[in-house]
Amino acid sequence: MQCSLCSSKAVYYQRHSSRHLCKKHFLRDFYRRVKRAVAKYKMIESGDKIALAMSGGKDSVTLAHTLIELYGKRRDLEFFAITIDEGIEGYRPPTVEIAKKVCRDLGIEHVVVSFREEIGLDLDEMVERGSRNACTYCGVFRKYLLNRTARELGATKLATGHNLDDETQTILLNFLNADIERLARLIPQRVQKGLVYRIKPLREIYEKEVVVYAIINNLPVSLEECPYSRFPARALVRDFIYEFEKKYPGRKFSIMRSFEELLPCLHKMYPQVELGECKICGEPTAREICKACELKRELGII
Ligand code: SF4
Ligand SMILES: [Zn+2]
Ligand SMILES: [Zn+2]
Repeated sequence: MQCSLCSSKAVYYQRHSSRHLCKKHFLRDFYRRVKRAVAKYKMIESGDKIALAMSGGKDSVTLAHTLIELYGKRRDLEFFAITIDEGIEGYRPPTVEIAKKVCRDLGIEHVVVSFREEIGLDLDEMVERGSRNACTYCGVFRKYLLNRTARELGATKLATGHNLDDETQTILLNFLNADIERLARLIPQRVQKGLVYRIKPLREIYEKEVVVYAIINNLPVSLEECPYSRFPARALVRDFIYEFEKKYPGRKFSIMRSFEELLPCLHKMYPQVELGECKICGEPTAREICKACELKRELGII
């Protein structure tokens, strides 16, 4: 099939624009949309030191490659990557190796932080010892360590690889759960003391396009799924959006636009609360004791 914009061979059919795109035009469109999202939310500003959350999966590897391609030569910006090794046997070690290789190839500093060293237990041990599901421990401790490490290394922004599919699923899930406060928190309102401001430069990029980008650029990504991955509600929402998008291409953008229209009202309804310091570890929290310390207590680590 020929590219809709030139005579080269197409590598991708973009359903929402009904265009076949060759490698050059796919990349041009991809970068244009990343830059547009970055500009819209002022995600990257002069003087920023940006920490990239790098799991070694397709999203984080594509994120790192894209940002270095687009902004890596700017002298007023700095990039480095953080990988959190949760301690998931069989699954995490190969992705840590991928993360190391990608950072080496891109020439960026890379820091690996493990649950075992920083929290005291591997995720596998937490699951054996505690009563919560793996994703609760994983999510809380990963966020905690990413934020703490990014801040301690002087980052002004923390970039994650969430794509359009992740974001639209989260938006609909929050609606379905009537968790409007959480929906309002999806885009932070301002910088808060102790919390590194989170940015998502791939939020306008389809998951499928992330995969195509990784293939085109020959990036070493792992497509393995975490053995603990079980999100029944999210899977249902994902399938629903997939079917809807298949029939009405571009609807993922519509979900995103609706959310963005509502965002100013949501932020008024739920202004960001002032954060204090956790009485145990000193990390930022809206409560007396942060969630990480609460879980550590439950696990008998502190
Ligand atoms: S699926 Fe695996 S990596 Fe993802 S939050 Fe759950 S335990 Fe962590
Ligand atoms: Zn072309
Ligand atoms: Zn704490």
